[in-house]
Amino acid sequence: MFEKILIANRSEIALRVIRACKEMGIRTVAVYSQADADSLHVQLADEAVCIGPPRSGESYLKIDRIISAAELGDVEAIHPGYGFLSENAHFAEVCESCNIKFIGPTAANIRAMGDKIAARNTVKKAKVPVVPGSDGPVTSEDDAKKWAREIGYPVIMKAQSGGGGRGLRVAHNEGTLIKAFHAAQTEGQAAFGDAGVYLEKYVENPHHIEIQILSDGRKVLHLGERDCSIQRRHQKLIEESPSPLMQMKEHKNLRRDICKAAVRAAETIKYVNAGTIEFIVDDRGNFYFIEMNTRVQVEHPVTEEITKVDIVKEQIRIAAGEELPFKQGDIDDRIGKTYAIECRINAEDPFNNFAPSPGKIDLYYAPGGYGVRVDSHCYGGYTIPPYYDSLIAKVIAIGPDRKTALDRMSRALDEFIIRGIKTTIPFQKMVLKDLNFRRGRYSTNFVETFMAASRGTMQGV
Ligand code: ADP
Repeated sequence: MFEKILIANRSEIALRVIRACKEMGIRTVAVYSQADADSLHVQLADEAVCIGPPRSGESYLKIDRIISAAELGDVEAIHPGYGFLSENAHFAEVCESCNIKFIGPTAANIRAMGDKIAARNTVKKAKVPVVPGSDGPVTSEDDAKKWAREIGYPVIMKAQSGGGGRGLRVAHNEGTLIKAFHAAQTEGQAAFGDAGVYLEKYVENPHHIEIQILSDGRKVLHLGERDCSIQRRHQKLIEESPSPLMQMKEHKNLRRDICKAAVRAAETIKYVNAGTIEFIVDDRGNFYFIEMNTRVQVEHPVTEEITKVDIVKEQIRIAAGEELPFKQGDIDDRIGKTYAIECRINAEDPFNNFAPSPGKIDLYYAPGGYGVRVDSHCYGGYTIPPYYDSLIAKVIAIGPDRKTALDRMSRALDEFIIRGIKTTIPFQKMVLKDLNFRRGRYSTNFVETFMAASRGTMQGV
């Protein structure tokens, strides 16, 4: 096992990795930008190295500075967390060439799934259904029109290197298609340095279901699904497992089939370490691959709670060459015994179109008690810098059934006090009271419909 690891990330995920390392007796090196000097991950790591100015392009994305910090700290491995360099194949290669283990998949794995068109074609060969779409990149307005006619409207234009909901545009006719084509190109170029775009059929009101994968290079196991359909602008706000969709009689084979497909997708590229295969599922239970995330995800605690597997520790063990200590049957036995739900608490104002709300937290009191977990890097007096994403805490509640988990989450959110900034907590509290949500009847259009219906209330609070 490694003796010392560098964490190439910040915020709650850096803390999450530090916690796993401490329990495993591994020493940690944190890196931080000038804006993060007061962050909890800096305080809790054994060592910390400042790697540059606040902007991530000059700090958390600077490969040479991170490698220098790793050499200075004399670490054996780097955990990249999520975002930043976690899906950068070049970074994985640089680590390996410096004799530092990259705690994640191989560079080839990352490349195979990083280009979303190539990923579609790869999994298609493994008989994993993909959303009907263009076979390759859409390169001109005429090309876009031709494909859209063939696929049938509505369609969704996507950035080839896209992620985080950026570079996605829905089009219902030729007029909006042309706008979508140029907008997705511009956004893809600005966000990912790649103007490549492609088209998919836009599946109306689908469920976003994703399958957590763990592979030690010998066998690929799945850890069940997460339902991430509660999204705003293609960004997840609430996740849960098991998915209410899987509880419906008509979908009794859905989990089995979708998990098998996910394992096939991972096997076909000889995937190693933790990853997630994302699908959209229509009302009839047809599922389609949309992409694979080749890293640990924000919502991984939901799966940890239902499977009792510490995903971050397993990532570290796999990187150190160890075998997974459980079998698929062990996981299957655990699925369905615990229900878990996660709310992503963002520093955003839900009553002002979710405008970012960075600044100083005057008072911070996190919920606790039986069945509640909070992953957060925040504390009273901490200032949320404006440079990074707005996630400030994740609340995870569990129960032996869905109702208990939901009631417990409501109780936890009631207890959560964050003063000085605006957060998404009031919005999530309202969602938890919604009858359709309570009944488990929701799809990815839930938030839009919910906001339209509760406009009066949202403005009044
Ligand atoms: P990103 O990598 O930016 O997160 P994804 O391809 O994962 O982009 O899609 C993000 C979200 O957009 C999905 O969770 C889903 O809600 C929606 N979406 C993506 N593709 C489709 C599609 N073909 N039809 C309907 N909704 C889609």
